[in-house]
Amino acid sequence: MAELDKPSVRVDTVPGAGARVNNFIRHIIDADLKSGKYALRHWSGQPGPAAQQKGGAADAARIRTRFPPEPNGYLHFGHAKSICLNFGLALDYQGACHLRFDDTNPEKEEQEYVDAIIDAVHWLGFDWQENKYLASGYFQWMYDFAEKLIEAGHAYVDSQTADELRASRGTLTTAGHNSPFRLRTAAENLDLFRRMKAGEFADGTHVLRAKIDMASGNINLRDPAIYRIRKATHHNTGDAWCIYPMYTYAHPIEDALENITHSICTLEFEDQRPFYDWLLARLAELGCVNTPLPQQIEFARLNLSYVVLSKRKLIQLVEEKHVGGWDDPRLPTLVGARRRGFTPEGFRRFSEMIGVTKSDSWIDISVLEDCQREHLNETAPRRIAVLDPVKLVIDNYPEGQEEECLAPNHPQKPEWGKRPLPFSKELWIEREDFMEVPSKGYFRLFPGNTVRLRYGFVVKCLGCDKDAAGKVVAVHCEYMADSKSGTPGADTYKVKGNIHWVSARHSYAGEVRLYDRLFAVEAPGEGGRDFIADLNPDSKLVITAQLEAALGAAAAEDRFQFERHGYFVADRIDSRPGAPVFNRAVTLRDSWAKGK
Ligand code: ATP
Ligand code: MG
Repeated sequence: MAELDKPSVRVDTVPGAGARVNNFIRHIIDADLKSGKYALRHWSGQPGPAAQQKGGAADAARIRTRFPPEPNGYLHFGHAKSICLNFGLALDYQGACHLRFDDTNPEKEEQEYVDAIIDAVHWLGFDWQENKYLASGYFQWMYDFAEKLIEAGHAYVDSQTADELRASRGTLTTAGHNSPFRLRTAAENLDLFRRMKAGEFADGTHVLRAKIDMASGNINLRDPAIYRIRKATHHNTGDAWCIYPMYTYAHPIEDALENITHSICTLEFEDQRPFYDWLLARLAELGCVNTPLPQQIEFARLNLSYVVLSKRKLIQLVEEKHVGGWDDPRLPTLVGARRRGFTPEGFRRFSEMIGVTKSDSWIDISVLEDCQREHLNETAPRRIAVLDPVKLVIDNYPEGQEEECLAPNHPQKPEWGKRPLPFSKELWIEREDFMEVPSKGYFRLFPGNTVRLRYGFVVKCLGCDKDAAGKVVAVHCEYMADSKSGTPGADTYKVKGNIHWVSARHSYAGEVRLYDRLFAVEAPGEGGRDFIADLNPDSKLVITAQLEAALGAAAAEDRFQFERHGYFVADRIDSRPGAPVFNRAVTLRDSWAKGK
């Protein structure tokens, strides 16, 4: 495709780029486009059964994919992989990707989650255009199709107890056996199913089952349940229904009603594919759904070291208050990542890098952190922050005098310009940049040693003041007036240490949160351990740092590199005008790498 060849477009910062790396899913799509498999579909502009679609024009979308979250939790890093893949493929192939809320389960869904999902997909840089749908909007069609299946002899009402149902299903090695209700006539089944819908029966007394094969080698084909009685209020349809479709029945129908071509899901649904295909083939025969039918394609879900992605575990972390909420910057949720300072581009780059495969594997969290670092390195202006301040007094600098030093906003981007850093007699430096008795290989400040104050002067350390407890309260030095960075002759001074600083009179004290990995081990909860026991006790440290004055004007979500410390973002929730609170997104280097 011509657009792919545009050399000026940075592949990894364009939404959809994540889908461009060659993979088996692209091969399937390429073959389908080549064979013209989906070329003659019709699309009415809205989801609907075959009759409605046939009245529409030829579908302008070359492929249709979908991202189908269940609105029962916040999206996490695993969902980001699925979003980048589905929306990315649609963008790349001039198709459409639907955002579909899979809200067929009446019990757990909430509007709060729906809103958060919408925000997260937009934040990642994707848009569904007019294609936002609710699976619960299809309940009537699902019901009508079930009646058609009953009439055609493909479904029956079973009235066995839950225990009987379980016992008759058989095992992986033994066949199941037929229910005594399997021979009910279509008329009898239809009557019972309608009465189920009318609310005549209690939960669990009857189920509607597909009639396939109780001896099938695939347990999922042993007459799976497709409707159950559940007298529950649904967040969208209220009390209109007291029977609800099972996920395995609902999902293929949702895909077919929406003209989806490639229904991409995670590997655990592989064993469900025969039922997916069986169901849609029957519904196509009955004239219910549009053809050609969607195809299910499975890929390996994202597993990340040092991270838990299970919704159940994330809910536990939030409910037991191990973290501050769904948007806690340490959680692997997309709202958390956003607060942490991670970028959508970093996620898209990550998604591109890990690709899609057919076999389960673990990705080290450092791969995601590196992708974030790379993007932040390119885009974050540099600023100075002293996180653990101690005073540096320049004994030979005149009291009351001040001057400007110049610091580049980005070392590789001269076009971003330089900013003035005020210099005066008293500065803040990092406590660790001074040692009264230096260890071997220590090149920073110790009595008699000379270092450069980055972008400023060369100073020679004279000694320090200590309090009664022996703690260093100030370091003294003298400066070389002709050593100012950028002035002629300044580089004749050769020093090994180069430390950062801020002028005490010009800097301000601000809150900084140093976030680290939430879990201290690669596989939290491994070997049956309680995963809570694997929490990293040092995952959040709140400090008061001395910050370069310019940082006081940062707006929420502005991102910076604090030189020598890492990438930081002004917290989007807790920052106040003139008083941003900074969160550390990532350190400059991977401090967790083995062997360091
Ligand atoms: P649950 O099974 O508890 O509902 P879920 O993570 O599957 O959790 P869904 O809302 O059903 O949540 O997921 C929406 C989409 O995201 C699905 O298509 C699913 O395949 C995909 N998805 C979920 N987790 C991952 C993951 N770890 N890696 C890749 N894709 C994922
Ligand atoms: Mg799911």
